[in-house]
Amino acid sequence: MNTPIGGLPAAVLAAHVREGTVTGAAAASAAFERMEAVQAGAGGLNAILHVDREAAAPGPSGKGALAGVPVVVKDNIATRVMPTSCGSRILEGYVSPYEATVIRRLRAAGASIVAKTNMDEFAMGSSTEHSAFGPARNPLDRDRVPGGSSGGSAASVAAGIVRIALGSETGGSVRQPASFCGVVGVKPTYGRVSRYGLVAFASSLDQVGVFGRSVDDAALGLGVIAGADPRDSTSMDHAVPDYRASRDGGSLDGLVVGRPREYFPRSLDPRIAKHCDACLDALRAAGAEVRDVSLPHTDLAIPVYYIVAPAEASSNLARFDGVRYGLRIAGDGLKGMYEATRSHGFGAEVTRRILLGTYVLSAGYYDAYYRKAQEVRALIARDFTSVFASGVHVLFTPTAPTPAFRLGAVSDPYEMYLSDVFTATANLAGVPAMSQPIGMVDGLPVGGQFIAAHFDEAAMFRAAYALEHALGAAGAGSEA
Ligand code: GLN
Repeated sequence: MNTPIGGLPAAVLAAHVREGTVTGAAAASAAFERMEAVQAGAGGLNAILHVDREAAAPGPSGKGALAGVPVVVKDNIATRVMPTSCGSRILEGYVSPYEATVIRRLRAAGASIVAKTNMDEFAMGSSTEHSAFGPARNPLDRDRVPGGSSGGSAASVAAGIVRIALGSETGGSVRQPASFCGVVGVKPTYGRVSRYGLVAFASSLDQVGVFGRSVDDAALGLGVIAGADPRDSTSMDHAVPDYRASRDGGSLDGLVVGRPREYFPRSLDPRIAKHCDACLDALRAAGAEVRDVSLPHTDLAIPVYYIVAPAEASSNLARFDGVRYGLRIAGDGLKGMYEATRSHGFGAEVTRRILLGTYVLSAGYYDAYYRKAQEVRALIARDFTSVFASGVHVLFTPTAPTPAFRLGAVSDPYEMYLSDVFTATANLAGVPAMSQPIGMVDGLPVGGQFIAAHFDEAAMFRAAYALEHALGAAGAGSEA
């Protein structure tokens, strides 16, 4: 074997482990070595919060789809061995008494969960700068953010620590960091993957998502974690197809790709637009038909998301009260203890969301804000239903309006929220979406996004494999 272990696609590594030519322990050591190298020093990535050195101890399966494959997992997914801190002081050092279904499935497939990754506190943010444990950095330019909120997972894949990582999505937290770090990021259909053991932010939007170095790494990872779970009543019992079925490429004959005009506003960076046009040309050349389509309620997604998500968060985060989990700071009586614990335990962005959410749910404002937002959410979802009912199989759009920005450059919360303009729509509608690298702008990667109909991740992967093949390593690395 000539390639170093860390460079092997996950499917190839797993095949080696199954055949006995590589051990899971050697694969984990390679991941730890790379982790130490990129984490070290003042400009270290700070992508990793907790490490499990024992992760490669013989698991239940040396035979599974991910046999011996090291995986890192966002720190809001419950593991029994390492802490689950959600990037927050309020859960610093907290170890869950149970593990998430996705963790159980990864292990059953033979994966080694080697580390937990840095994130914006409670997954609220788009840069990983809101972590209580310091910002993570972008491995392609360490003065820049890796995106967020799953920035540590995206950075871990981009830095070559692992080929597969888990993140979570509420409004774009897998796709946007994937775009910033030049890797693949998938948000499955709402209900495709169990949320059991995913710490709740906004329960009607949250999904576990997957990062891969390549489309195939991501497809392999999703296939392992997808499927109904009796422990999550919002998970759905839909057959899980083989997402890797179209990995050998082939033509896109018969595939209809929609180009939604609202995702290509006049204000879009012309270099990002140019990369997207090149992708659409490549999809056409592969046999797809490209149609101009419209999703007319797109510009309402950010205002709706920033009402619905904080409203649900204000309710979900009420459980962190100093009694049941993590941090407790004494105060004057019970109320004083709540107040001291929550005001020390939560950072500024989480506090802002709780206040915002409490406001939009309070008597007198509920109808004006929360109910109205739910009504508009239904219109956004209907835009997608109609376009897919019209014969379009997948939509293609930019993932984010900009490449990775500099650490500290976005200090206005509203400006940060605008990072999610092209991604929050899929969460509001519950449809699957993914980002993959499509080119470079100013030496930084940018992502292109496919969005598909509910439970049709397979169509999205078919298009993504073909695009990855057409662009090749050189295409995805080309400047506009
Ligand atoms: N950036 C969005 C937010 O801050 C999305 C976060 C997410 O998807 N978890 O809410």
